Amino acid sequence: MEKIKLGISTCLLGENVRYDGGHKLDRFLADTLGQYVEYVPVCPEVECGLPIPRESMHLEGDPDSPRLVTIHTKQDMTDRMVQWARKRIIDLEKEDLCGFIFKSDSPSSGMERVKVYNEKGMLVKKGMGMFARIFMEHFPLLPVEDEGRLHDPVLRENFIERIFTLKRWREVLSKKENRGNVVDFHTKHKLLILSHSPKHYQTMGKLVAKAKDLPLKELYQKYQTFLMEALELKTTPKKNANVLIHMMGYFKEPLSSDEKKELLEVIDHYRQEYIPLIVPITLIQHYVRKYDQPYLKEQVYLNPHPLELQLRNHV
Ligand code: SF4
Repeated sequence: MEKIKLGISTCLLGENVRYDGGHKLDRFLADTLGQYVEYVPVCPEVECGLPIPRESMHLEGDPDSPRLVTIHTKQDMTDRMVQWARKRIIDLEKEDLCGFIFKSDSPSSGMERVKVYNEKGMLVKKGMGMFARIFMEHFPLLPVEDEGRLHDPVLRENFIERIFTLKRWREVLSKKENRGNVVDFHTKHKLLILSHSPKHYQTMGKLVAKAKDLPLKELYQKYQTFLMEALELKTTPKKNANVLIHMMGYFKEPLSSDEKKELLEVIDHYRQEYIPLIVPITLIQHYVRKYDQPYLKEQVYLNPHPLELQLRNHV
């Protein structure tokens, strides 16, 4: 697979672009995830023409449509930022991004819970950074996260699963439109989708089953929307355990009753959050290889992202 293109707030890569001339290097993003992605850095404040260092800013006024204002001298940077952001978004369209990682809490780059103040400097509400808001309105289905939330192992796994899946889907889009390609993609991603949303698993199964009756464009559009919606919903131990039990059903014949009992125990220990997901997955992978199970060996669920990222090692 080619490297995944991801937008990122420039300061997270260690560039000294912050208002105080510093950076906010995130080692996991820069060094670990960085091995698998090609970052497209974006610093709204510097790219819209502000210097380093510069006066710090915050969001001010109507919480639904706040202004970007410097804290001490009260210069209003809103129009400058909005005009630059609208042009930058058009450039970013050409980048084929699979997601964006924003710097948390920034009045320009924060994607949520950014403080909005009134004219007297009192906190009135929490909202979105100015560039992040314009970006997310323009690319509503693109996976986005901020580096603060990515410290949570569940959110981290979810985001990375989404960007890898979107990259695989983009590879389907890069080929000539063809119903068979959608069916093939869906077949391989069935259990991954089930682990996020049993409801989308049903809906998407029906969509693919009537693929022949739909115009191609409609099929692609609907499938992509459902796929992104499904993956945005987080997996849980209960949902994963359901998928693992489903997979176990493929080994009714070859496994001895002792092996079945052991596998069930391991799944149950995972469901109760005593052990991480990687444990039952490794046991099932062993049986898939041993018995050369043709359907399961194609399932992306067993290998949705590089093992080295250790995303399934948490309890
Ligand atoms: S938070 Fe955004 S605007 Fe601020 S330095 Fe980082 S990239 Fe630039």
